[in-house]
Amino acid sequence: MLPRFLRSNNLSKKMLRVIFSIYLIVTCLITSMQFLTEYLKTKNSIISELKQLEETIRKPISTSLWQYNYIQLDALVTGLVHMTIIEGIDIIDKDANTIVSKQSYTPASKPLSLFHTQYDAYWTLHGERIFLGSIKLYSSSEVVLDRVLFGFFLIALTAIIKLSILFWLFVWAFDRYLASPLKELMLQVNEVQSSQAITKRINLKNTDNNELGQLQDHMNTMLSAMQADRRRLLEDEQSKRNSLESAVTKRTEALQILNERLKDLATRDSMTGILNRGSFFERSQHLLVLSQRQKSTVSFILMDLDHFKVINDTYGHFAGDRVLIHFTHTIQSLLRQSDLIGRVGGEEFALFLPDTTPDDAFQLAEIIRTTICNAILNIDGKTVTYTVSLGIESSHSNDDSIDTLFKRADAKLYGAKNKGRNRVER
Ligand code: GH3
Ligand code: MG
Ligand code: MG
Repeated sequence: MLPRFLRSNNLSKKMLRVIFSIYLIVTCLITSMQFLTEYLKTKNSIISELKQLEETIRKPISTSLWQYNYIQLDALVTGLVHMTIIEGIDIIDKDANTIVSKQSYTPASKPLSLFHTQYDAYWTLHGERIFLGSIKLYSSSEVVLDRVLFGFFLIALTAIIKLSILFWLFVWAFDRYLASPLKELMLQVNEVQSSQAITKRINLKNTDNNELGQLQDHMNTMLSAMQADRRRLLEDEQSKRNSLESAVTKRTEALQILNERLKDLATRDSMTGILNRGSFFERSQHLLVLSQRQKSTVSFILMDLDHFKVINDTYGHFAGDRVLIHFTHTIQSLLRQSDLIGRVGGEEFALFLPDTTPDDAFQLAEIIRTTICNAILNIDGKTVTYTVSLGIESSHSNDDSIDTLFKRADAKLYGAKNKGRNRVER
């Protein structure tokens, strides 16, 4: 597996590839200029070498030309052509005729770029300079390159080595001090993002309080602020939820109370607090059906206060109300938990007695009648007494409607009234 900084998607490598591409171009340019300078310098030195050579050979060549000793001239030129820096020699006489022309190359391997030095040969006789001809010494760029090439190779090699070392050094340093910490930072940011723990923070290694360290501090400060905001939001939400819950609880309680009241209003008589006609009949009907299913006997007592109109007329309507309340309370104190009492008319009341025989019902009716008959009420300083008439009816096996029982009990009550009131009829 490659080290991290050698991978192709590495940030430092990408950055440095750009930097070093430019650096490589610049290095190539500089090296080329160095090479060119080196080439020109070497060429100049070769030219000056040629000139020195010319000075050395000037005398023997001039002598050979003066004496027409072409054999000696040819031998001299042949020797010179064998020198490394010389590619060729031309000797031209004063009439521009080539006397000697020798080259170290064949026509097929003629160097591309030839350059030469030229000088004129003279012979001094009796103080007079006589022109003998010209000597041309040729050299070529290949001679120059031969000298320059090794130096250039060294320059290029060191440049490449320096460049490579520098490149990988930069890649490593960038990766070590920039790309790796950045990658670590990104990883930790991801971890913090996906973590459930809100206290989690970024903690980079080796930041040495540099820009990355400062970035880490800034991000951690930001995270702390976010954590505080989040906590505050949660607390706000919790307190809102709590107050909402308590408001809902209060409202529910109020609604329940209201419901109870409504239910009471719908099912109870407001003055006496006992069941009204509708709900009394409804519940009695339900209990009757249950009792018939269990084959048990129920009894039904219908009660009507005697001459109540007279009480109202004598003591007033308010006193009449007090009598009605007294009657209700008195009866309630004589009943069992399972018995039902209801106000079925103005001064008419009914009792539904589950699991009660006609005899037991009669006994209860008699107790009610005597208790009421013996009761003495004091209303606004006036003594009030009253009586009640009662009609009793018990269920038959085929009774399935409370109305039938009511009608039969009503008939009994009518009988009690007819027989002089303050009576129980069964
Ligand atoms: P009876 O013995 O035949 O039953 O005679 P009664 O006077 O009781 O019967 P009647 O039906 O003639 O009169 C009933 C009276 O009851 C008339 C009505 O004004 C009175 N009454 C009905 N409801 C109330 C009430 O809520 N308060 C008061 N004070 N009187 C009521
Ligand atoms: Mg009546
Ligand atoms: Mg009456």
